[in-house]
Amino acid sequence: MSTHALLQALRAALPADRVSTDPATLSLLAHDALHPGRLPDWAVATPLVVVCPQQTTDVATAVRLANTHQVPLMPMGGGSGLMGGAASVVAGLVLDMRGLQDIQIRPADRMVDVGAGVTMATLNHAAAPHGLMCAHDPWTVAVATVGGTIGTNSLGYLGGKYGSMGDQVLGVEAVLPTGEIITTRGVEKASTGPGLHRLFIGAEGCFGIVTRATLRLFPLPQTRVLRSWEFANFTTGFTAIQALLDSGMRPGLLEYSDDHPTCTADVPATLILSFEGRQRVAEAEAAEAASLCATWHGRELPARHAETFWAQRHESGDAYAEARAAGQSWLRYVRRQPLDYLHVSLPPSAVLDYRHESLALLAEHGLQALQTGLWCHAGLFNIAFTGADAATFTAMQMRLLQRCQDKQGAMEYCHGVGVRLASLMAREHGAGLGVLRRLKQCLDPQGLLNPGKLSLAPDLAPPAL
Ligand SMILES: Cc1cc2nc3c(=O)[nH]c(=O)nc-3n(C[C@H](O)[C@H](O)[C@H](O)COP(=O)(O)OP(=O)(O)OC[C@H]3O[C@@H](n4cnc5c(N)ncnc54)[C@H](O)[C@@H]3O)c2cc1C
Repeated sequence: MSTHALLQALRAALPADRVSTDPATLSLLAHDALHPGRLPDWAVATPLVVVCPQQTTDVATAVRLANTHQVPLMPMGGGSGLMGGAASVVAGLVLDMRGLQDIQIRPADRMVDVGAGVTMATLNHAAAPHGLMCAHDPWTVAVATVGGTIGTNSLGYLGGKYGSMGDQVLGVEAVLPTGEIITTRGVEKASTGPGLHRLFIGAEGCFGIVTRATLRLFPLPQTRVLRSWEFANFTTGFTAIQALLDSGMRPGLLEYSDDHPTCTADVPATLILSFEGRQRVAEAEAAEAASLCATWHGRELPARHAETFWAQRHESGDAYAEARAAGQSWLRYVRRQPLDYLHVSLPPSAVLDYRHESLALLAEHGLQALQTGLWCHAGLFNIAFTGADAATFTAMQMRLLQRCQDKQGAMEYCHGVGVRLASLMAREHGAGLGVLRRLKQCLDPQGLLNPGKLSLAPDLAPPAL
C-alpha cells in the first residue's frame, strides 16, 4: 500500500475540497464516542486521509480506489457511536458521510428518500411542515445520522410504539465493499426473496456503505399525553409494566429506572409513559394506564415530572454534538473511575433474576450500581455501574454480558458491537458467526471495509477486552 499513490489518485478523481489530510480533521474523525472510561486502554490509529463525499458516485470512487491501493475504509456518520464502530482500528481512509444531505419527502406515501448523512433532527425538521415525523428519536437526535443509526440499528424514545431505526427502513441504496452500487425497492413489504436491505441494518458498515435510504414516516400525533408514577421497588413497577403490555397498550415512551439500587434494600423506581395520537384515544389510554398502575400501588407524580423529562431528553446528546462540532476529543468524557451502561435484551421473564444477580455480583466485587431500568419494552434492561480498578471493572462487564447470553439474551440492544463487544461475538452467534464471516469474505474479499468491527475477520484481532 502506498499512501502517496492513494492520495494522488483520490485528488485526481474527486474535487479538492472532498479530500483532507488536515491533522485536526484526521484526529477528530479517528474516533467516535467510545473512550477509555468505558474501555480501559482504548486507543485509535490516525487515519491516512478523510474523504467527504457529496454524492453516491464519490463514495463508489473512494471505495474502488481504496481497493486498488488496498487501504482500509471506515464509514463515519455523526461519530456518536459508543462501541468504536466508526473508529480507526487501523490507519486508513475515513469516509465522512455527512455530505450526503438530500431529502425528498413523499407525503402521499408517508415515506422519505434521504441521504445517509442527514441527522435525525434535520430529517424531522424537514418532515414536520408535511405533518409527518420520523419515529426514531435517540438522545443524539442532533448528531446521529441516517447511515449511522441504520448501521447500529439504534433505538430511541419512541421505540415502544414505533420500533427501532431498523424498523423504519424500507429500502436502501448502498455501495458494496468492491464499489458496486445497489438499490433495493423501498416498499412497505415485498415477498421477492430475502429482504436485501436488512443486510445493512446493524451491520456497522461492514457489508456496504449506505448512501441513501427510504424510511417510513408517521403522522405527527395530534397530542402526546405524558404521565409518570413512582413504585415502591423495581419488582412492583416491573409487574405493572408487564400487565400494561399484556393489556395490548403500546406507549410511545416507556422509560423505567431507579437510582443507586442494591440487592438487599428496596429503592423506589419511576415509570414515565407517553400516549400519542388522536386526543381522545391518547387520553383514554393514559387513564387506563393510571388505573392499572394504581392496582400496583404506583403513586402518580405531578405532570411536570414527565413533561420535564421529555423536554430535557436530548440534553446529553446535544452536549456531545456540541463538543464534537467544536472539535473536542472524547478525553473530555474520561472519568477517573471507569463507568459503563450496559443495555441487554432479555426474555422479560428473566429480567428480575438477572437484575438481582447482577446487583449481587457488583456488590460482591466492590462496584457500585448507579441505576437499573427498562427502555421501550419489558425485556430491554439497562444497568449502569462504576468503581474498582480497570481490571476488575472490565472483568465485571464481561461477566454481566455473558450472564445475559446464558439466559438466552442478546448482549446489546441498541449501540451495536464495534470493537468493544467483538470478543463476545462467537459466544453471541455460535455457528452463525461463521455464516456472517463467509458473507463478509464473499462481499469484501480484501477485508477492507471497516476492519476489526463485529469480529468478522478472524485474522484481524480486535483489541483484547
Ligand atoms: C450521549 C449519547 C447518547 C446516546 N443515545 C443513544 C440513544 O438514545 N439510542 C441509541 O441507539 N444510541 C445512542 N447513542 C449512540 C449513538 O448515538 C448511536 O449509535 C447512533 O446510531 C450513531 O449514529 P452516528 O451517525 O453518530 O454513527 P457513527 O458513530 O458515525 O457510526 C456508527 C456505525 O455505523 C457505521 N456507519 C456510519 N455511517 C454509515 C453509512 N452511511 N453506511 C454504513 N455504515 C455506516 C459506522 O462505521 C459505525 O460502525 C448515544 C451516544 C451518545 C454519545
